[in-house]
Amino acid sequence: MSERSCGDCTLCCKVMAVEALGKPADSWCSHCKPGRGCLTYETRPEECRHYSCLWLTDRWFGEHWKPSRSKLVLTLSKDGIEIRCDPGFPDAWHKEPFRSEIARLAQAGEAEDLTVLVIVGQRMTLVTATREFDLGVVGPGERIVRELEGRSVVGATVVKTSIAKDAAEGGD
Ligand code: SF4
Ligand code: SF4
Repeated sequence: MSERSCGDCTLCCKVMAVEALGKPADSWCSHCKPGRGCLTYETRPEECRHYSCLWLTDRWFGEHWKPSRSKLVLTLSKDGIEIRCDPGFPDAWHKEPFRSEIARLAQAGEAEDLTVLVIVGQRMTLVTATREFDLGVVGPGERIVRELEGRSVVGATVVKTSIAKDAAEGGD
């Protein structure tokens, strides 16, 4: 099976932040020609060189998941999978077949303690095997804490990173 290529897709150059360029998430990189590619391809930052979305690398995701079509960019994170929605299409992840496939991903992920997080702008939704936790805006100094019963997620809250760290270390 031939490898996938980005082709006319450039969506990660919009939805992902690029630290080396001071480029925030959800705005087009000034070096991007949308639908065509990177104008500074040979000298693009390391983080761009090393980035591949999951549609490129994982055949579990069918052709319909191609980011330029689905408006969804999938990234492997240390906790599981992050699904970033093009802010111009904030409901894209709720449309079928994506919603059902995201639920299946969450179900499969639960056995491995992997999270599935949908990100639209700064708004985040944790998708679990049985429900969606709308967490609202999650800022850079905050993190998501899950409440587990066995492997099932029964609650999710957003706390300041310092509080989460204290709790993990047994502090007050
Ligand atoms: S989102 Fe994926 S397919 Fe689209 S340009 Fe980025 S790496 Fe390529
Ligand atoms: S430098 Fe190039 S590859 Fe990196 S975000 Fe900008 S357009 Fe995309």
